Amino acid sequence: RLITFEGGEGAGKSTQIGLLSERLARTGIEVVSTREPGGSPRAEKLREFILSGRAAALGPLGEAILFAAARIDHLDTVIAPALRRGAIVLCDRFSDSTRAYQGVMGEAEPRMIALLEKIALGDLRPDLTIVLDIPVADGLARAATRRGAHAAPDRFEGEEVAFHEGLRRAFLNIAAGEADRCCVVDALAPKEEVAQAIWQLIEARFLP
Ligand code: C5P
Repeated sequence: RLITFEGGEGAGKSTQIGLLSERLARTGIEVVSTREPGGSPRAEKLREFILSGRAAALGPLGEAILFAAARIDHLDTVIAPALRRGAIVLCDRFSDSTRAYQGVMGEAEPRMIALLEKIALGDLRPDLTIVLDIPVADGLARAATRRGAHAAPDRFEGEEVAFHEGLRRAFLNIAAGEADRCCVVDALAPKEEVAQAIWQLIEARFLP
């Protein structure tokens, strides 16, 4: 099973993946936690390059192609083998982030983004996508706390508030358009409550 976590900055994706992975591991299921961009040594190199801003000169499509290249390596070397072993894979961001960041917000043509998704994923889709939804001001405040007040934001965290508002709408639209696959979870609640809401979704769908 492939379960992906999506949402804006500071929504708590990595915290929730940590909590869920501990809880799943206690049931004896093999859990693999990973992230995008990155998740494999080669893809992590591409992540560093893209997030430093050095790929921006390639334009939105060029950047999207690098994200797709990173995803192909991550899928081949980490995700697909884990799924074949029967593990549950928890991925921090996946194809919906590409649709939202490079597609809706990056102004790459949606049909190009769809084509790249097809090239990287073929027919693979997450079995479940959890969209952690948080008001932009709260998410940005959390992201700033996590990073430490003086560290520089990465290429995307530094965007304007309007960008993050657009991103939030983009994730909610994706979830509304694919309601079978996606569940929106209120991420403003205390982390234990969010974790419990997520656990109920997982239990209902995937546990015996
Ligand atoms: O969530 P995380 O902080 O790991 O994401 C890393 C950065 O990559 C974020 O700033 C996110 O906005 C950006 N990103 C992106 N396009 C993607 C995936 C992530 O711009 N497809």
